[in-house]
Amino acid sequence: MERLQKVIANAGVASRRKAETLIQTGHVTINGKVVTEMGIKVEGSEHIEVDGVPLTRERKVYYMLYKPRQVISAVTDDKKRPVVTEYLEDIPERVYPVGRLDYDTSGLLLLTNDGDFANMLMHPKYKVDKTYVAKVSGIPTPDMLRQLRKGIVLEKRKTAPAKTKIISTDRRKNTAIISITIHEGMNHQVKNMLAAVGLPVSKLKRETYSFLTLDGLVSGEYRALKPIEVAEFK
Ligand code: URA
Repeated sequence: MERLQKVIANAGVASRRKAETLIQTGHVTINGKVVTEMGIKVEGSEHIEVDGVPLTRERKVYYMLYKPRQVISAVTDDKKRPVVTEYLEDIPERVYPVGRLDYDTSGLLLLTNDGDFANMLMHPKYKVDKTYVAKVSGIPTPDMLRQLRKGIVLEKRKTAPAKTKIISTDRRKNTAIISITIHEGMNHQVKNMLAAVGLPVSKLKRETYSFLTLDGLVSGEYRALKPIEVAEFK
C-alpha cells in the first residue's frame, strides 16, 4: 500500500507536494470517485485519474552519469549544493542514484526509477565490483598493498579483499596513483581503506561499475543504459 500522492508523484505527473494540492483541490479520482482526503493509501490495482487522464505506471529507465566533483549524490540538498539529478533534467522521469559517491568523488553513478533494480544492486550479497582510481599521498609499499589485498578492519569489521594496482608514482612529490577494486559499499570505504594503510586520498574517481565504463562520456554527461546492459545485471 502506498500513499496516493506518492503514487501520483512516482508516475511522473507532479512533485509530491503538487500531487497533494491536486488531491485537495479535487483533480484526482480513484475508480471514478473524486478523492480530496489526504493520506489515502492505494494498493496498485485501482484506476486512478488526474484531470481525467489515467495514471500509467512510469516506464522504468536506467542511466549512467559521469558525476563531476562537488556534486551531491541525491535528489535534493539542504545546503543547496548541486545534486546529480540536475544533470538529467531533460529526461521526463524522476530518477534517483543507486548508492552514493562522495561530494568530492567523481565518476560512474547509476540512476534509475526502478527501486527493485536499485535495491538488488545495493544488496551486499550482490557483489558488484567497482574500480576506483585514487591519487594518494605517499608511495605504496608491498606491505601496504598486501594489507589492502587481505582486507582492512574498518568500523570493527574486516573489508573483503581489494584488488589493487599501482598506476604511477611520483617520488619527488611523494604521491601515487593507484587503482583499487572493491565490491562492498561502506561509507567512504576507499578513502578509509587507503588512509588506514597510510595512503591518504586527495582525489578519487570511480572508473567502472561491474562491466560498465565511462567510455564516451565527459564529466557531467550521461547516457541511457542499453537494454542488454540492464539485462546483464538482472
Ligand atoms: N569510497 C569512498 O571513499 N568514496 C566514494 O565516493 C566511493 C567509495
